[in-house]
Amino acid sequence: MTRPDIAPPGDPRMTTIASIPLSDVRAALAQPAQRAEARWCVAEVAALFELPFMELLFRAQRTHREHFDPSEVQLSTLLSIKTGGCPEDCGYCPQSAHFDTGVAAGKLMAVQEVVEAARAAKANGATRFCMGAAWRSPKARDMVPVAEMVREVKALGLETCMTLGMLDAEQAHALEQAGLDYYNHNLDSAPDFYGSIIGTRQYQDRLDTLINVRQAGLKVCCGGIVGMGESRVQRAGLIAQLANLDPYPESVPINNLVQVPGTPLAGTEPIDPFEFVRTIAAARITMPRAMVRLSAGREQMDEALQALCFAAGANSIFYGDKLLTTGNPQVERDRALFQRLGLRTTA
Ligand code: SF4
Repeated sequence: MTRPDIAPPGDPRMTTIASIPLSDVRAALAQPAQRAEARWCVAEVAALFELPFMELLFRAQRTHREHFDPSEVQLSTLLSIKTGGCPEDCGYCPQSAHFDTGVAAGKLMAVQEVVEAARAAKANGATRFCMGAAWRSPKARDMVPVAEMVREVKALGLETCMTLGMLDAEQAHALEQAGLDYYNHNLDSAPDFYGSIIGTRQYQDRLDTLINVRQAGLKVCCGGIVGMGESRVQRAGLIAQLANLDPYPESVPINNLVQVPGTPLAGTEPIDPFEFVRTIAAARITMPRAMVRLSAGREQMDEALQALCFAAGANSIFYGDKLLTTGNPQVERDRALFQRLGLRTTA
């Protein structure tokens, strides 16, 4: 399935900033209110990255305030319901069976175990419960228990999100019928960098899953990873792809690569922290009503950097599975940071 409104690799819209007259870029950037809901070409997003840091931050914060209370942060927690042994070869992932990372392949958790974990997360302040399985795509026999998980977690009063790999239209519909709120499926990177990271499935496979998810009436959680050795223009390419999904995702997780020994991306030059903040700001400006989520890599950031990310428009964080246990020191540190910054957690 192809989708005419998404620029494939080689499309003229996927051009580099150098080929766009500067006057055009300036004119586009001079109208942030109009630009916010329009389509973004890579050059325009790259031009955002090129802005002086304070100017970019100001524009992102201004956009953020038009749509959100800048003092509110939403918490999500993630449970791995099936860990390791994945047949895909995503170069950043310790759960891939292609790499020797010491992560053992587990079985799908029992429904009641998942429900107990969700109950604990809720008691610790989570409002959305995300369940992830390391699959290429769910098999028919998997759909019955995962649908049951959705029903039971939702009955606790939590929003539900799942990430199970690629979905066909029927599977997406089944999850929607079970009451699933969000489906997570990341684009990971720009189309012209994607093939350097993943060989077992194509960019178009990801776009097709996103189409199936949307057509089933589910909300979309979709973002990517930076710090994998991509260029700035490729980071802009990822943001442009996300922003041009129609509609753009309700949730946009921005991950900073966590380098895991044994994966091909271990040893990659880390991204400049300010470049990460720029990526958050570009996501906020181009997807003004999305929840922009600080996800993987947050624990490697110091508090000042996290505060800059919130200033750039991040308004959601992943707590990983930390909310599943009480008295976790990382949770206490996060709460203390929110207090120092005057941030409130919200649904
Ligand atoms: S599909 Fe998901 S679990 Fe599997 S290797 Fe890729 S990122 Fe890891």
